[in-house]
Amino acid sequence: MGYGRGRQSRGRLFPRFLGRVIFLLLIFCCGFIFYYIVNGQALPFKDQTRAPYSAKRAGGGGASNHDEGEGSGEKKEAWQLILVNKWHPMPEDYQVELTELSNGQSVDSRMYPSLQKMFDDARSQGIYPTVASGYRTAKRQQSLLDEKIAEYEAEGCTGAEARRKAKKWVAVPGTSEHQLGLGVDINADGVHSKGEEVYDWLDRNGYQYGFIRRYPKDKTGITGIINEPWHYRFVGVKAAKEIYRRGVCLEEYLGEVSH
Ligand SMILES: [Zn+2]
Repeated sequence: MGYGRGRQSRGRLFPRFLGRVIFLLLIFCCGFIFYYIVNGQALPFKDQTRAPYSAKRAGGGGASNHDEGEGSGEKKEAWQLILVNKWHPMPEDYQVELTELSNGQSVDSRMYPSLQKMFDDARSQGIYPTVASGYRTAKRQQSLLDEKIAEYEAEGCTGAEARRKAKKWVAVPGTSEHQLGLGVDINADGVHSKGEEVYDWLDRNGYQYGFIRRYPKDKTGITGIINEPWHYRFVGVKAAKEIYRRGVCLEEYLGEVSH
């Protein structure tokens, strides 16, 4: 009996007090979820790994932010402009949140929507690209380098020679943009399109989606990597447009040509 009354009593109070509390909690939760959707996966702790280094570069473009529709200032852009090459290894504690593609490759979740949009538009124009290689672990990068070294050794190169040549094609672990999840090797699907058609389309259109051809043939001395028409790097639309317009590479754009 006592138990029954207790329940009745709680039942009368529920709409007046608990109902309002739950309603307020729901609003709070929705706001919280909305905040993370709006911010994508750009969790603050990730940006901080590079913020002191790249934030000042972000302003170097000089243009406004409006063309990306992000309207968010330098900090939000910093992750897009991380410079990783043989002279600038990535931070050891770098963390990346990945989105897996339908073919099993993965890319940084923050750039994924731009990549998808670029591929959708290419396909609507009869060009069929595919991500041949996206994110790589350090271990995977090392095994790719080892394979390349073995190739040169098989051709008769000495160990040191094979290593020197291999490094022109394959970055040493810690110096590859593939480990950031922001570099992608894009090739033709092999059915509807040929490699050259895809490279050509990307070369002409990639910047509109925030992607740059990262290792152009006339910049190998600066990038340290041989001409790779398939390797694209996400830098955001603002930087990509300026890099494309000026015909510079990422190192030049960032003012990091010190070697
Ligand atoms: Zn690549």
